[in-house]
Amino acid sequence: MYKKTFFIETLGCQMNKADSEKISGILETLGYNEVTSPEDALLLIMNTCSIRAMSENKAFSHLGVWKKFKRKNPDIKIAICGCIAQQTKEKIFHRAPQVDLIFGTHNIYELPQLLEKLEKQPKICSVLKTPFDSEKSFAPSRKKGLSAWLPIIEGCDYFCAYCVVPYTRGRQRSRMPEDIIKEARQIASEGFKEIILLGQTVDSYGNDIADDNINLSNLLKQLDKIDGILRISFVTSHPADITDELIYTVRDTEKVCEFFHLPMQSGSTEVLKRMKRPYSREQYLNLVSKIQTAMPDVVITSDFIAGFPGETDEQFMETVSIIKEVVFDHCNTAAYSPRKQTPAAVWKDQVPQEEKKRRLNILNKLVRETVKKSHERFIGKTLEVLVEDFKEENGEIILTGKTRGAKVTHFKGDSSLIGSLVQVKIKDASIWSLIGEAVYT
Ligand code: SF4
Repeated sequence: MYKKTFFIETLGCQMNKADSEKISGILETLGYNEVTSPEDALLLIMNTCSIRAMSENKAFSHLGVWKKFKRKNPDIKIAICGCIAQQTKEKIFHRAPQVDLIFGTHNIYELPQLLEKLEKQPKICSVLKTPFDSEKSFAPSRKKGLSAWLPIIEGCDYFCAYCVVPYTRGRQRSRMPEDIIKEARQIASEGFKEIILLGQTVDSYGNDIADDNINLSNLLKQLDKIDGILRISFVTSHPADITDELIYTVRDTEKVCEFFHLPMQSGSTEVLKRMKRPYSREQYLNLVSKIQTAMPDVVITSDFIAGFPGETDEQFMETVSIIKEVVFDHCNTAAYSPRKQTPAAVWKDQVPQEEKKRRLNILNKLVRETVKKSHERFIGKTLEVLVEDFKEENGEIILTGKTRGAKVTHFKGDSSLIGSLVQVKIKDASIWSLIGEAVYT
């Protein structure tokens, strides 16, 4: 086995995936080769997520499998990073003694030094409270494809009562626009066609910098001018940070997609207050209506939590009613999962597990109906599709791509269209995707 091989298992959100790309970039600079199977690697890295208990359990279950590899080959080193590492620190060594290296979310750029130390020292835990200082020396190693993630802001200042992010990722830190634009140009030169700007509260971009001109709206306008890039989108927005200017920028720029992921979390103003989400049901509805008025074909998606502590049946039904009222294009749903360090985890009025499950099932059923309705509203419309892939079916080439609202769309065409924008008239829709015909003018 080649000595410098690594494998990364990435759990959780796009931010973690972007971090894994940074880790790959660092390791490749150090002469490591990435492999696609953990059995072939001498350095195994688990990039963890602690947003829900399920994700945490998954990380330790993978570590259990890796323990067997290490038993067979003691030269294997196992590292754990991401939110669980940031939160749990050295305690991980007790739960998973096979782990050699623990590094936090702020320590990614310290990895070269940590790996060097690991040659002489059996166990290392390095978890910083603020970012390690050599951020600019390494470029991320992106997997080939059409879309590239580009983190523009890290951390979060909101401290929602259920969320670990401000504890694991720290306070909000926006990158400077010139660094982002430079990286976006690099992405374009590598052949990517789409840029997805990332941040836990991406629309708060610039709020931590004392210059009013640094904001998401202005950044989008500058990115819109980069040659080679066909599409730009951004996730995840905080409803309290969407400005009128941002809405009009999305409407008026050429490449920025009419797509908003706007987590609402609950349809009840009372529950939102307890969650420390700074908007009411009415304010959220007004925001959605403003966006839909500006862009009638906009795609709006959301997140909802079932069974937040103290949520009454009546308050839960307000979530049900808002999903029906807005007819979101998609919603991510989850049963409330108490997370260490967060205020809500120790509240006495926890909703019983069975009840959380019942409420979640109701939401999931509703979301399926919602997605179907959302897809059906596009039948008869002509949408721009970025072609991503193809397959052969009964001797015909079926292309697959995404609309500006990230709807998966299939249509017949030529595989040479991969990477281009095609106008597609939507003829049919299922819960999974849209089906259409190319319109060539
Ligand atoms: S705004 Fe989002 S990331 Fe920040 S604390 Fe709330 S849920 Fe977590």
